[in-house]
Amino acid sequence: MDVNRICNFNAGPAALPEPVLQELQANILSFQTCCMSILEISHRSSDFDAVINDAVARTKRLLGIGEDYHVLFLQGGASLQFAMIPMNFLTEDRKADYINTGTWSTKAIKEAEIQKKNFTVAASSEDRNFAYIPKNFSFTPDATYVHITSNNTIKGTQWAKLPDTGSVPLVADMSSDFMCRPIDMSRFGMIYVGAQKNIGPAGVCMVVVRDDMLKLIPDGLPTMLDYRTHVEKNSMYNTPPCFAIYTVQLVLKWLEETIGGLGEMEKINLKKADTLYSAFDESNFYNGTADRDSRSLMNVTFRLPDEDLEKRFIAEAAQNGLGGLKGHRSVGGCRASIYNATTVESVEKLVSFMKDFEKKNQ
Ligand SMILES: *Cc1c(COP(=O)(O)O)cnc(C)c1O
Repeated sequence: MDVNRICNFNAGPAALPEPVLQELQANILSFQTCCMSILEISHRSSDFDAVINDAVARTKRLLGIGEDYHVLFLQGGASLQFAMIPMNFLTEDRKADYINTGTWSTKAIKEAEIQKKNFTVAASSEDRNFAYIPKNFSFTPDATYVHITSNNTIKGTQWAKLPDTGSVPLVADMSSDFMCRPIDMSRFGMIYVGAQKNIGPAGVCMVVVRDDMLKLIPDGLPTMLDYRTHVEKNSMYNTPPCFAIYTVQLVLKWLEETIGGLGEMEKINLKKADTLYSAFDESNFYNGTADRDSRSLMNVTFRLPDEDLEKRFIAEAAQNGLGGLKGHRSVGGCRASIYNATTVESVEKLVSFMKDFEKKNQ
């Protein structure tokens, strides 16, 4: 593409694979057989049906799941899921465990609290500003689910190994590490994903829910907030975000056909993360904020010796074609988000810039 594009380390909305952007561009005026734009056609058309069904089928293949899971495309972001999960799965006689590993977990907990649901915080890493993933838990044996945030986008931590919850299913916010590596789906009753980090554009939230979880849902919920509505209507009870779903479908196709699946994606992600974290480990100038055993493959958070240097680092990086390196406004510092679509070459360019900047400013 002879267009001026910089290396994108944005946290979300974030980088999309360049071949996906090219395919969107090529198809924008006339889609498939319909000779109209995908933006202009009915969600009830056979062309759109093929898009959503292909996206569901690819999701199932990539995750290695079958008929007992449903793949949904919803609106309201991951944030609406914080509220829908306790609403759908926690009736008066049930309770849940939550593990608090950062800003997003805290928000998920708040929504269960607002609804006065019965839940326990089974572990938290708040004591050290969420710099690590907890190792000691006190799980409720008869909980309906254990909620985790698999990757903490703001704090730069990620679960390396899932916690042992016995027969209690996990419910996970995977917004920022969905499909970054293979996972054992048999552990999950449900996962949900705001697409705009690792799987597509803003405007759609993916939900993968196991069939048995649907049996927990009480009658009397508002129609749009009941998962069964969306399962029964293949995510088309009302108008879905068609263009966002189409983009997700292209990203899934890229993951399957160009990358070669989640095992191959993991190898690339490990290489990127290793390249970047090695740069910290060889330096006293850059300091990673997450504990080593809790480091995220997706969001690499770090500090420089002082805030003034951080400001200059971010500004000079931008002048060198490296964008989106500012930490979340709530924590400051720097953050390089290296999602699936960020290339090894982009990370190598960043590391080379970091080495130069360190030399000049030591
Ligand atoms: C970005 C993010 C969210 C919020 O997603 P929305 O789609 O904006 O509601 C929730 N959880 C995690 C882990 C995130 O990274």
